[in-house]
Amino acid sequence: LVVLGIETSCDDTAAAVVRGNGEILSQVVSSQADLLAKYGGVAPKMAEEAHSQVIDQVVQEALDKANLTATNLSAVAVTIGPGLSLCLRDEFVPVKTCATRLKNGSISKPYREVLMEYVNLGFQLVGVRKARKLAGSFNLPIIGIHHMEAHALVARLIERELQFPFMALLISGGHNLLILAHDLGHYIQLGTTIDDAIGEAYDKTAKWLGLDMSRSGGPALEELAREGDAESIKFSVSYLSYFLFVHLLIFSLLSCLLECTPMKQHKDCNFSYAGLKTQVRLAIESKNMYVENTKLLLSLIMCSNAEIPISSASSQDRRSRADIAASFQRVAVLHLEERCDRAIEWARKIEPSIKHLVVSGGVASNQYVRARLDHVVTKNSLQLVCPPPKLCTDNGVMVAWTGIEHFCMGRFDPPPPADEHEDYMYDLRPRWPLGEE
Ligand code: ATP
Ligand code: FE
Repeated sequence: LVVLGIETSCDDTAAAVVRGNGEILSQVVSSQADLLAKYGGVAPKMAEEAHSQVIDQVVQEALDKANLTATNLSAVAVTIGPGLSLCLRDEFVPVKTCATRLKNGSISKPYREVLMEYVNLGFQLVGVRKARKLAGSFNLPIIGIHHMEAHALVARLIERELQFPFMALLISGGHNLLILAHDLGHYIQLGTTIDDAIGEAYDKTAKWLGLDMSRSGGPALEELAREGDAESIKFSVSYLSYFLFVHLLIFSLLSCLLECTPMKQHKDCNFSYAGLKTQVRLAIESKNMYVENTKLLLSLIMCSNAEIPISSASSQDRRSRADIAASFQRVAVLHLEERCDRAIEWARKIEPSIKHLVVSGGVASNQYVRARLDHVVTKNSLQLVCPPPKLCTDNGVMVAWTGIEHFCMGRFDPPPPADEHEDYMYDLRPRWPLGEE
């Protein structure tokens, strides 16, 4: 059994070939990081074009590296949902396009929903078209994959001991999910985010701190945080802070008074990162103001055009930015720890036999996150399964492997007709709760 996996759901175009026994024969990722850095975010139309430009090459390279041709494949797996809210994260969304679609397409859904559908269809269509074309030409079955299920199940590829049922924390750019995986395709959602995902909070913080965004913001922020003092700023996570974001003073005071650990008073397993994001932004803005004012004052004291000692100011600036990064990371991850602790307790009531907590998705490649969650898991006498960083961020291997799992259970679609038209209405699922058939 040999399966090709294709993934084009966001900023990477990825393909991989995996054998039924879990042997990874090839994996290729073409990143759009340059585009991201240049435009400060995902520009959906541009990203779609970038996917289209490289998809043939990426798939061919995956086959070549595996020393195979499409005739050797048993099936093709491709991501068909859910939608990626990642693309909504930036201001750089095709507002005009969506507005036009709303006007002439007689769509009466809320704007955000339309936007989400539009954005996702374009991205995923590139991969789905390629998969169907290939499957049609070589008479191969096709397997539609849930992106988040793939993030979770790739853990079973690297840890053969990992049996159902298990728990999973999926932390990425668009999702913050705590699930109990009963069986293949059967997942109980224990918690999700009520606003933003942690990956988005990392990306935005990195952007506001002026970090190098040529990779995603997460890794850059993790690096900077190593130099900072995580206790220097008392951020918190709270629903409250979300609503009171206008007033720094009241909002910080109340947040600190009411809860020193994240959302303690909410007895559920849901997440919230919007409030923390706002606090970080305010902290950065107030620091910036302070720096600007100091510079102004210095130039006044030193009589107008005199040189300002830039070097000490910038090292000071890096230090304070590192403090913000470290303080942000500490609280963001503390929130994960606290929720996992509670979710394990819940999950054990439903499935006393769970032995593992899987942590996957882009943010799971963060070393600090891994270390802190390892601590939680050990405390609860469970085992942590965290795929290597390359398999935590988006990749084709996770799609191919999830395809293999479904294929083995007889869950796949017959080969599409070889002459299928490009405009065929593919079965994409922009909103697809994990576990729903
Ligand atoms: P989703 O999986 O929710 O649909 P996505 O596919 O865009 O969204 P992933 O590729 O799974 O997301 O993960 C990307 C996210 O992971 C980005 O937000 C990125 O900043 C974050 N990330 C990657 N590496 C790190 C790291 N070392 N530390 C923190 N965050 C990281
Ligand atoms: Fe992802």
